[in-house]
Amino acid sequence: MTNANAYPASQSIHTIGILGGGQLGMMLAAAALPLGYRCVFLEDTPNAPAHLYGKVYSTQQLDEFVAAADVFTLEFENTPVKTVEYLKQLSEQGEKQGIYPPPQALKVSQDRLQEKSLFNELNIKTVPFMAVSSKQEIEQACEQLGLPLVLKTSRGGYDGKGQFVIKTLADIDAAWADLGEAVTGNGELTPTPAPLIAEGFIHFSREVSIIAVRGQDGNIRCYDLVENYHHQGVLAKTQAPAVGARHLLAQAKNAISAIMNHLDYVGVMTLELFVSKDENGKDTLLANEIAPRVHNSGHWSMEGAVTSQFENHIRAVVGLPLGDTDNIKPSIMVNILGQYPKVSEVLAIDGSHYHTYHKTEREGRKIGHITLMPSDVADLDNALSQLVNVLPNKVGLDK
Ligand code: AMP
Repeated sequence: MTNANAYPASQSIHTIGILGGGQLGMMLAAAALPLGYRCVFLEDTPNAPAHLYGKVYSTQQLDEFVAAADVFTLEFENTPVKTVEYLKQLSEQGEKQGIYPPPQALKVSQDRLQEKSLFNELNIKTVPFMAVSSKQEIEQACEQLGLPLVLKTSRGGYDGKGQFVIKTLADIDAAWADLGEAVTGNGELTPTPAPLIAEGFIHFSREVSIIAVRGQDGNIRCYDLVENYHHQGVLAKTQAPAVGARHLLAQAKNAISAIMNHLDYVGVMTLELFVSKDENGKDTLLANEIAPRVHNSGHWSMEGAVTSQFENHIRAVVGLPLGDTDNIKPSIMVNILGQYPKVSEVLAIDGSHYHTYHKTEREGRKIGHITLMPSDVADLDNALSQLVNVLPNKVGLDK
């Protein structure tokens, strides 16, 4: 599409305000600079990675942050919706150039019940689920959905936190004590929306995700389907593209496009999916959740795709044409968790790319990532074995 009117904003935007200042904000800022844009951040954590990449304002300094930027985006999905609504209002009054993604996308992504209900409304398959807000309702869910059952807080969980797998009816008390009472406070129930979601436990074969970007003109470009390997709920490794998953790509593209169009989304979105079997025993995808932002499972795109997820997000936010999302060649992205390896040992591996987040070491913390893209694709597994040898923390890399 070459309609110049579709890109009205870019000429008057100089500074992008990012809600959040973690590594995602840092990598967005690094992608914005070559395009001519500077970033400022709203972030309370001292020494957050973004400090190296632009001015960081605390949430107490919201007015100064707003004054410093022309257009806004976010890198953290637990950003308060009211802040995003305020920025949207300023934009509608003509004082700012917009906030992307829009508040409705953030709202949906912050509530698992709303999110899965929307998927089903759009004919996107999910695991069977129910809203539950008392022990009695959990019992009913066990009857209707069967055991095992995954109980999750509808709001506020991340990286597998706020979840309990109920294996037998005897687990209900412990699950309620862990999630229900913690959420509602001494068993007092929050009426609607129900604070917990009960999901049928799915015996999926693989976990995959798709990342797509939607521009201000409604144009959508999708990256390839990738496969994700988690350790205790935290992403350890992403293989891009997912091997032997071509037959699922159209289903994933249709699902994420439907969600983006419905939400009038602008920017990068991630959809996490399970690979399961349909009633005929054929592979199918079940949508688990969206992230309204750039995502860890898309870091490979910095080297592995023609245009990275970070650059494409910035292009969408400022109203520039989107870039090609094709793969350059297959890659594997590995997270650095807890402890840094020696950079020289990592870079001695053919086709390795090292990214530090400038964070202090702490057990289990995501402090960087490495992308492997050897010149000969046949060397990919070998490069991974070499990397595992030099990583101090190898958790989740054994499969
Ligand atoms: P989530 O916070 O929903 O992304 O869940 C974290 C992890 O728990 C997922 O990556 C899955 O490995 C697992 N999981 C989540 N929901 C289910 C489910 N309904 N059945 C089986 N495993 C699940």
